[in-house]
Amino acid sequence: MSRSAKVNQVILFILDDVRAEHLFKLMNEGKLPNMARIAENGIKCSNCVTSYPSITFPCYSNIMTGAYSGYFPKEGSAVPMYHWIDRMDPPSMSKKFPFIRNYSERKDVLKINKDIGKNVKTIFEQAPEGNMLSSTCFLYRGAHFALAESFFDVEPIFKNIAYAFENPGKYFSNKEVPLISVGYVPHTDEIMHKKGFDHLDYINLLIDCDKYLGSLIEILKKTGFFANTTISIISDHGNFKPKALFNLEPFFQQNGLIPYVPKKAKGNFDCNFGSVGFFNFPGETWHHHPRIQQMQSFKPIGIGKQSLNLFDILWKIPGVRFMYYRNDDNKPEKGIIHIKYKEKNSEKIINGIIEYEGFGKDQKTRYVFDENDFYGYYKNEKSAKILDNKFHTLEEWLKATNLLNFPMIIDQIPRYFKNPRSCDIMVSTLGTYAFEYEHGKTIENHPFSHDIGLRESMIVPFIIGGSTEIPQMELKYCKTTDMVPTLLSLLGLKPDISVIGKSVLA
Ligand SMILES: [Zn+2]
Repeated sequence: MSRSAKVNQVILFILDDVRAEHLFKLMNEGKLPNMARIAENGIKCSNCVTSYPSITFPCYSNIMTGAYSGYFPKEGSAVPMYHWIDRMDPPSMSKKFPFIRNYSERKDVLKINKDIGKNVKTIFEQAPEGNMLSSTCFLYRGAHFALAESFFDVEPIFKNIAYAFENPGKYFSNKEVPLISVGYVPHTDEIMHKKGFDHLDYINLLIDCDKYLGSLIEILKKTGFFANTTISIISDHGNFKPKALFNLEPFFQQNGLIPYVPKKAKGNFDCNFGSVGFFNFPGETWHHHPRIQQMQSFKPIGIGKQSLNLFDILWKIPGVRFMYYRNDDNKPEKGIIHIKYKEKNSEKIINGIIEYEGFGKDQKTRYVFDENDFYGYYKNEKSAKILDNKFHTLEEWLKATNLLNFPMIIDQIPRYFKNPRSCDIMVSTLGTYAFEYEHGKTIENHPFSHDIGLRESMIVPFIIGGSTEIPQMELKYCKTTDMVPTLLSLLGLKPDISVIGKSVLA
């Protein structure tokens, strides 16, 4: 134990797909007594901002690393999104056609450990020594054990960690208890998509998690570790109910857009689209991102000679309100992202840009718009002050916009687009429509979703407690990438240089 350490061990639970307002409501109603006790006696925040777009990969991996997407040959996570095309900058022509990564395919889930790249480190990799335990955590790089046998059952996620404290020799040859344990519960997300955030099955699963947590606490007390172990809880994103579902397959067909299939070497576009849509198009080849002019007069591979204006086509998708794309010749250290915006029920397109400069923690962004601010920041006294045409850091955006919709989105959009694996045009319906479209198919008709920048999808719980060494405090706001540096600081450790979040105790 280092001199500055407050605790000897940390345990983190990531409950997938839980809104802060829902978890805190259940705690206030007495339905989650164990979580409530941890929150009451420790650090709690019901206004923790996750990364944008609010989708499991990358939000979950951003929690695990304390970092965000970026220009990954130099900085940041190499996993920009749940789905991506492996395009590099400069283009890597080693394969004829770049592959599509899709983490919803079970065979690809664990590939995230390699995909994420060398310029970020998991919490496990950030501790110089000690035993590391991952309990069903897909991103487990640096953990001595990755226990994934409990895929269909929630209780073992908690029990695995309890066993490690009762009988560490079972997992670790030095017979020492784990310094860092992370338990990840994907089941909450599965039920939320199918049944919804207000369904009894979803609520009961959270109640079960609380019960299993209670059993773990009992074992920590019995084995004498409770007093010097911290228990923390976070989620990767919230959720919402789209107003309408819509099948996009016929729309794309009618517009001459043919899904890209790398193995068959065919197709002229790729898309995955819940309520936020990610569109990829070939430039010079599929290895190159297209230039703006190429997207304005797109010559689709495989059909006729007629050129298409892709921007015009994408505006015809029902419900589209926002459109984002990068400027030509953007550099990792400096560039421009274009924003187009349509008011509800209006055909008028309003223009804006986000300019960015710098890397990692030092990234600064500037938001400039033609007429009105699109995000409603002007309506709030605190956030209106940041509409000053000047460059601002992530912390400044967070401070100014944490109480509004689209919290810190100006910082987040460039981090996404800097990644060469990011898409060419991103659109959002703000949750009015959901499409469940993935690479040529409408896959499922889930009535519930998450991905948008509105608060219901962006605000998650942040709880750190357990040991009495943890100060009692309520934070007005924080962000999900603050979890890892805070836990490391409780262990007396410094976060890796790649970490963008900061300890809430600093
Ligand atoms: Zn998730």
